[in-house]
Amino acid sequence: MSRVFFYPDYTRYILFTDQALFHMYAHAQRGRWQKEAGGEMFSSEPHSRGLVVNTATGPNPSDYRRRCAWNPDVRQSDRNRQVEFAQSRHVVGLWHTHPEPSPSPSGRDQSTTWEYLDSFKGDRSRYLMVIIGNRGSIPEMAVWVASHQPMREWTQLGEALDSETEQAPDK
Ligand SMILES: [Zn+2]
Repeated sequence: MSRVFFYPDYTRYILFTDQALFHMYAHAQRGRWQKEAGGEMFSSEPHSRGLVVNTATGPNPSDYRRRCAWNPDVRQSDRNRQVEFAQSRHVVGLWHTHPEPSPSPSGRDQSTTWEYLDSFKGDRSRYLMVIIGNRGSIPEMAVWVASHQPMREWTQLGEALDSETEQAPDK
């Protein structure tokens, strides 16, 4: 089932499709031996107020992965972006896993998100950071947004209750 996360002012939301969610859930760090995984997320309408995350990519075989670290292979990430772009999907954020039930971003996660946003040189007003927890058939998920319009803000989004989810547009 898709999941919806609202901005604190409830005027904007982000909807994650089954396709994107199941891709990320598959890499949740359920076992002690499992390494962090991550990748990027894509949307066909990256500037929409109701943002739909259609797909997620990664991890790549050539990524650097440890239990508490993940660094993507930048060249392979570029190739992933080109494949998604050919399907009219644009990159909107990063996702990765954490070996904790209720994940929260590290200082490094936050600065990485800013680096990605700044690399667009104004072509994006926001960039997402999603972190997948390691418990439950539907893991907890932290959703944060780095944005610089009108000013730089690092915002946590809250998950909609079930009743709200059912009323949200589905794709
Ligand atoms: Zn992290």
